[in-house]
Amino acid sequence: MLDRTTQLKSYQTYIDGRWTDAASGKTFQTFDPYTGQPWALLPECDKVDVDIAVEAAFRGFENGPWPKTTASARGKIMRRIAQLIEQHAEHLGQVEVRDNGKLISEMVAQTKYMPEWFYYYGGLADKIQGAVVAVDRPDHFNYILREPVGVCAFITPWNSPLMLTTWKLAPALAAGCTVVIKPSEYTSASLLEFMKLVIAESGLPPGVVNVVTGYGAVAGEPLVAHPKVAKVAFTGGSATGARVNELAAKTFKKVSLELGGKSPNIVFDDCIIDDAVSGAVSGIFAATGQTCIAGSRLLLQETIHDQFVEKLVGMAKTAKLGDPALTETQVGPVTTPPQYQKILSYIDIARGEGAKCVLGGGAAQKEEGGGQYFIKPTIFTGVSNRMRIAQEEVFGPVLSVIKFKDEDEAIEIANDIAYGLGAGVWTQSLKRAHTMARRIKAGTVWINTYRAVSFMMPFGGYKASGLGRENGVEAIEGYLQSKSVWINNGPGGGNPFVMKTAS
Ligand code: NDP
Repeated sequence: MLDRTTQLKSYQTYIDGRWTDAASGKTFQTFDPYTGQPWALLPECDKVDVDIAVEAAFRGFENGPWPKTTASARGKIMRRIAQLIEQHAEHLGQVEVRDNGKLISEMVAQTKYMPEWFYYYGGLADKIQGAVVAVDRPDHFNYILREPVGVCAFITPWNSPLMLTTWKLAPALAAGCTVVIKPSEYTSASLLEFMKLVIAESGLPPGVVNVVTGYGAVAGEPLVAHPKVAKVAFTGGSATGARVNELAAKTFKKVSLELGGKSPNIVFDDCIIDDAVSGAVSGIFAATGQTCIAGSRLLLQETIHDQFVEKLVGMAKTAKLGDPALTETQVGPVTTPPQYQKILSYIDIARGEGAKCVLGGGAAQKEEGGGQYFIKPTIFTGVSNRMRIAQEEVFGPVLSVIKFKDEDEAIEIANDIAYGLGAGVWTQSLKRAHTMARRIKAGTVWINTYRAVSFMMPFGGYKASGLGRENGVEAIEGYLQSKSVWINNGPGGGNPFVMKTAS
């Protein structure tokens, strides 16, 4: 059971293997979204701390034990990390419930699943292989080395802080990089607990994983801009992602961006209706709609529209709102006050645009299981894809229902959007499933399921939903670069003023 009695727990941050306050001595509060009360104090890091952390990561990358650690030994440390997470999964899940208001039932499942990333990438660490190239020159021996890119900066959001850190950290460590992590100002506590219970106990040398807590503009920007950072892996909103990309470009960093979405969940009349209703509910109301992959546009074939909406509303209205620390709760609070205001303003926008609210449509009061920052599961029908409520990411429990006639129209609506993160398709036709999977412009397409992720499956966005992929074998590529080595075993000579080519 979550202990809410502690008064303002104080955290230090973790840089170069040591616990430390911010150099300025400043701190900021983090809030429990369920009670609305502050529960912990965190170091408010700024450029000074970022410089110290990046220098530590740079030293850790260039000198000391980490660059001398063999790939197999890196894999062993990662398996140790996985075991430590297994030991502390419950506690780490509870800290996230306190800090971001996510349901305990989801969080414990998430933290129990996280070790798989470290087992998987730990296993890949010693399978990073270069190549010998039979180059088109006599007497040459050429090979390609695969080397870690260097110091990586991770900037993470508040909605799944540890999971989204894991997606970056596991491939980065497997590749041999060192990292500095800037978590969201709203949800930094679980990362600091992870540093204490897992990283500090794992056998990783000092400087390999460092944390700077603080605000995006004050700690995030100098980290992204730091000349000794080689790669930035960012998860967050598209506007921030664009800013991060712009800053990183100035010093030619490698960048991966996992950004927002406005994913279509497309239901055909040949689907198993009850499965699709359940998929539509979990697509938008799980995690209070605060997921980048929320199925926030429900596209319904017109032949089943009314019947489907009736069942959908019937199921959604049974959602039990309440304390996210209780296993029976199904919808928790919104994580941050600005996000709460943003969701309410989109509900007003939808009404103003003429969409019809058939469920919810506002804040949930105490007697409805609500309290601080609760929004009722909300469904709008009569939405056209050109409305703002269909085009803009709400990041909350607000569903837009849009009608379509046939496959072509479903595709047109699905792809008529700036984003391209995920999509769901509900059909029993194999042919239609494959056709839709090919025609939808999104990084992930789920057929007769929704919101499934795995360490084995690449994850990322088309279009404004991002750059690069996390998870799966290809994620490790983002933390590696190639070096071409040429060895001439034959005679020298030739015209020194002319580039050497084969002919
Ligand atoms: P933000 O974009 O506001 O913030 C993300 C991170 O960036 C935070 O750590 C934030 O710090 C930091 N940040 C803010 N400004 C800057 C800056 N100028 N320079 C460097 N860092 C900065 O997103 P949210 O935290 O609000 O998360 C919600 C968003 O994330 C949604 O739009 C959602 O779609 C997206 N998201 C995408 C996912 C994906 O995989 N595609 C997964 C999860 C979320 P601070 O908190 O201090 O502002």
